[in-house]
Amino acid sequence: MIKLSVPDIGNEELEEIIKVLSSKNLVQGEKVQQFEEVLSKYLNIKYCIAVSSGTAALHLALLSLGIGKEDQVIVPDFTFPATANAVELTGATPSFVDISLDSFCIDANKIEQAINGKTKVIMPVHEFGQCADMDKIMDIARKSNLKVVEDGACALGSSYKGKKAGTMGDLGCFSFHPRKIITTGEGGMIVTQEEELAKKIISLRNHGISYINGKTCFTQPGFNYRMTDIQAAMGIAQMKKLDKIIHLRKNIVKEYSNLLGSSPNLILPIEKSYGEHTYQTYHVLLNKKLNRDYIKQLLNESLVESNIGAYALHEQLYYKNKYSFNMDFTNSEIAYTKGLALPLHSDLNYDKLQYISNILLNQL
Ligand SMILES: *Cc1c(COP(=O)(O)O)cnc(C)c1O
Repeated sequence: MIKLSVPDIGNEELEEIIKVLSSKNLVQGEKVQQFEEVLSKYLNIKYCIAVSSGTAALHLALLSLGIGKEDQVIVPDFTFPATANAVELTGATPSFVDISLDSFCIDANKIEQAINGKTKVIMPVHEFGQCADMDKIMDIARKSNLKVVEDGACALGSSYKGKKAGTMGDLGCFSFHPRKIITTGEGGMIVTQEEELAKKIISLRNHGISYINGKTCFTQPGFNYRMTDIQAAMGIAQMKKLDKIIHLRKNIVKEYSNLLGSSPNLILPIEKSYGEHTYQTYHVLLNKKLNRDYIKQLLNESLVESNIGAYALHEQLYYKNKYSFNMDFTNSEIAYTKGLALPLHSDLNYDKLQYISNILLNQL
């Protein structure tokens, strides 16, 4: 089977993990702090707070802004459900906005019509590793006095007009799930320039602990969203490979473009001129006439793993049953029904890419 995704892990990670196991300090210690420092330096941002997952990161980012019942948070309709689930977990309501089909990110031109008196936050997703149109989003947010939380789960290393994903909004969130650019097994990170927000997050990830005059006290009910030192050790080793991983992904994307570019039935992903796409996912759009699920099945029979790219959230049962929608989600629906994620990882050579491409081309 040619896998959809294979994490780039090897002896470097193993050696780091062995050191942690030998030290017998397993949870949120020195290694977590080191990993946070590495990220801080890489992103050139003051505060990096490691947590147990990307979802935990989004949840705490929203809580640090005081988001809760009665509030609304704008999210793209087409994303992994965790984006909106994090909003629901705070008691607030996600407000879905359609996407642009060239970036698969929220359509910034459609955000303003979703803003009302209850809207507090815009949460753009840098879908598949490409940044949303952040200048437009930040302008709208400033004009309407809204906060911005970047869901950069897929976008570590991506950039927008020279700025790194995650560093443009009030807070940025990353995931280190094995499907993402680098992995710690499970894991996440929240980044911000603001000390007040960082302090709240640091307390909330660890049961609501605070230190007042050197004394430990619990000032609020928090969570256990800590990262382990084992995960962080892996993250440190992974960060050393980040540039290499991104470079390799871009090379494979180039080969896919050469192999698939001539097909009139496929729309290949593009890198917007405003930034660097890191291709966490290689997501193609099939012609309207083609049956995506059938093609996915054919690939599977040829031992090639593929998947849908992301979900139209307004069509997911929980959201469909809870809310009524009068927005237009045309592009999200197209991406949800015609999008196909193809294998992209370092275990692919030209022959495998050609094999995958030929299966597709023969069916189109
Ligand atoms: C993966 C992902 C998440 C969730 O991250 P986890 O680490 O799996 O909790 C959130 N948002 C987006 C856009 C994602 O792709």
